[in-house]
Amino acid sequence: MTGPLHPPGDTPHAPAATPSTPSRLPHGLRGAAPLLALLALAVLIGLAGALGYRYSYDNALARQAERGQVQLRLYTQALESELAHYDYVPGLLSLDERISGLLLRPDDPARVARANEYLTSLNARAGTRVVYVLDAHGKVLATSNWQRPDSYLGEDLSFRPYFQSAMEGQLGRFYGVGTTRSESGYYLSAPLGERDNPAGVAVVKIGLEPLENRWQGADSQMLLSDENGVVILASDPSWKLAALRPLSDEARQRLSRSLQYNRAPLPQLPLVSVRKLANENGGSSDELVRLRRGPPMLAQHAALPGTEWQLTLLTNTSQARVAALNSAALAGVLTAFVLLLGAAWNVRRRIVNERLAARAALEAANSELERKVAERTADLSAANHRLQAEVTERIRAETVLRQAQDGLLQAGKLAAVGQMSTGIAHELNQPLAALRTLSGNTGKFLERGDYATVRTNLDTIIGLVERMGRITGALKSFARKSGNRSQARLAEAVDNALFLLQTRVDAVQPELQRDIDPELDVICDPNRLEQVLVNLLGNALDAVAGRPAPRIALHAHVSGAMVHLTVRDNGGGLSEEAFARLFEPFFTTKPAGQGLGLGLTLSAGILNENGGSLSAANHPDGGACFTLVLPLAPHETRPQDPRHAG
Ligand code: ADP
Repeated sequence: MTGPLHPPGDTPHAPAATPSTPSRLPHGLRGAAPLLALLALAVLIGLAGALGYRYSYDNALARQAERGQVQLRLYTQALESELAHYDYVPGLLSLDERISGLLLRPDDPARVARANEYLTSLNARAGTRVVYVLDAHGKVLATSNWQRPDSYLGEDLSFRPYFQSAMEGQLGRFYGVGTTRSESGYYLSAPLGERDNPAGVAVVKIGLEPLENRWQGADSQMLLSDENGVVILASDPSWKLAALRPLSDEARQRLSRSLQYNRAPLPQLPLVSVRKLANENGGSSDELVRLRRGPPMLAQHAALPGTEWQLTLLTNTSQARVAALNSAALAGVLTAFVLLLGAAWNVRRRIVNERLAARAALEAANSELERKVAERTADLSAANHRLQAEVTERIRAETVLRQAQDGLLQAGKLAAVGQMSTGIAHELNQPLAALRTLSGNTGKFLERGDYATVRTNLDTIIGLVERMGRITGALKSFARKSGNRSQARLAEAVDNALFLLQTRVDAVQPELQRDIDPELDVICDPNRLEQVLVNLLGNALDAVAGRPAPRIALHAHVSGAMVHLTVRDNGGGLSEEAFARLFEPFFTTKPAGQGLGLGLTLSAGILNENGGSLSAANHPDGGACFTLVLPLAPHETRPQDPRHAG
């Protein structure tokens, strides 16, 4: 019996009930599965890349925005302080008696000249562009640029908003483009005299270009837009006087009336907002914008305190994009790695499952095998029992058969004895008659005292009795059941057989030819061998009886380990039917009472039992030829046959 077929030291597992998934797919889809998986992989990697890009981009933008806020704050403060720098100038004028004097007597050329001188020197000292004084109607009374041909002197600037706000008692702040020289600048105005009823307005115009020059940055743009959304300062000069947001028709008309930008066309700046960005500071709103179809830029706005102006910082986002692309690539690669790892793990899991399933199948097969073996073993033992019973039956049958065979042998012998009985009776009667005569005569010779003759007669009587004893002895021995001697001398057995058949030999008188080595021993019980020879010789005698020149030839030779003895006669030979049925029991062609048809059958049986054989043939020269084959016996010192002992 075999044990379960799992490796040593390994315990059997419960069978894994997970079949491999591909086999569940319909056939058509199975080919597409790898493609779908690849597609899914690509989509996932793409998604991860996009998320990585977005996350990193937003992060980088947030950091950039922080930096931008700082920059913006710095610029705002710089601008504020720059503008505050000049705040004192208009107020200063109201304190000066040359100006107040001019306002009192504006027609006095000497006062005008003095005021002009003063304004010129103030302008030079303060570093402003122009300083001038308007009367309550907006007419320029004195100006620092009085000597220039395009001087404002005498001009009516009442339409300027800075004049209007100053006349309302407030400080005016205004960015505008000069009407005379189209020079842009920042106008600061203050009322002169009483606040409620100003006698005039002092105005200072400041050029903001120095600020602009400071804004020239490598990858950032700075814009300053005024209350109308018009760019008044820009690090890129070409953007100046462009509108950041669309101007309504009404606004455009108002602007052309106030000549704030001196009829500049105010084109719309092609800035498009891409998306708003969440801003942690809350204050200004950051957004991503594009200029025409250019790359996106980060736009950050900050209001200039005390004004309606707004500073806008535009910064290049290419670095953020590069960082985002790197992150996207990293995310994609990581995702691909994780997915591949997952796939590898899945494959491994499947292999393990398959292995477990295979092992389970193996175990199932093994237990099935064990079951079959057990079944077969049961069958076999049943068959074995049957066989044993059969063997017992056979042995019993064989015993019965053997008994029957023995019986037959005995019957065959007795038949032979019967055949021989007439001859034997004759053999015995002759000496018996002689004995009677001799014993009668001997008595007479004894009475006469002829002792010598008595002696001779008694010797003759003894010889006769011995002869009779030999005959009966031979018969007894022939009829006796076989002994258990294992080897016989072939020549002796032939002698004994001929002796038993003596009467018939005498009757037929065949020419007997013998060519047998007297030392030749064969493996066979001597008694049985004699029986075979009596049969063969008896048949030969029958065959040649009544034929002219009857002849029986016996010839023995050794071939290998076997002894061959041929018994040949010159009788009629074997008929075709006899040849076919020769060894059949009870087949005989002899008249009833003469043959039983057992002789050859029994002879063949005896020879076979001893490892030999019997065969028959018709000799080409006529007559039958029987060949007896028996194993050659090794030479040994054997006791003499008791029949020949005395
Ligand atoms: P039985 O001698 O009692 O007939 P056997 O078995 O010895 O039985 O022989 C069977 C038959 O074989 C004989 O009847 C005879 O026809 C034939 N037979 C045997 N020996 C010879 C022989 N030497 N020549 C011719 N026929 C033979």
